[in-house]
Amino acid sequence: MSHMEEQKFKDSAPEKDHWKTKAPYKVHDKQDDFHVRYEASCHCGKVKYQLSREEPLDSKLCHCTTCQTQHAAPFQWAAIFHKDDINFTHGHHDLEWYDPTSKSIAHQLPCKVRCSFCHSPIMDEGRNMILLFPSLIHFKNDQEKANFKPRLHMFYNQRVMDIPDGLPKWTGINEGEDSHLIEDSPPELVKEMERKRVEAQNKKVESGENK
Ligand SMILES: [Zn+2]
Ligand SMILES: [Zn+2]
Repeated sequence: MSHMEEQKFKDSAPEKDHWKTKAPYKVHDKQDDFHVRYEASCHCGKVKYQLSREEPLDSKLCHCTTCQTQHAAPFQWAAIFHKDDINFTHGHHDLEWYDPTSKSIAHQLPCKVRCSFCHSPIMDEGRNMILLFPSLIHFKNDQEKANFKPRLHMFYNQRVMDIPDGLPKWTGINEGEDSHLIEDSPPELVKEMERKRVEAQNKKVESGENK
């Protein structure tokens, strides 16, 4: 490496680590007006975080084979939050990353985040959102737990067991283009989705005729 290249490398290093000081790893202080509603920790307790939002944006059970392998469980329970809703009390410390797409342990989004000591899965970090695993949260009462109640199943056709709970069950990501409602999904929702599908189809035909 030449002298100039070396200098360039040094200059770019802090830039490369910039994400460590930004949400979701930014440590919030009192001035941030971060209202603590929930507290959570990994199995060994090295990783601790707080949440400021009362209800997740969504709560899902994922049956995809990646989740089965990554969690060594029949399915995964994830609650969606904004990156600003979380406060890791030690920031990025004691965390490790894994990108299942490239099988790399570099911090590349979207990736899995775990405790670097006990390896408890903490969350999936997406490009814009985080998918937290609520099993780590210390719920103080039934209402708090109810706030996180799963609202749907996704990748249900990859399941290892049936969950006849009457919740919507999607073959892929919910409401994705190639995703369909199956099994014991609520009949009204199935009808509504079918209506939307026909409507979209008709629109396509109409705009085709107008050309
Ligand atoms: Zn741990
Ligand atoms: Zn999954």
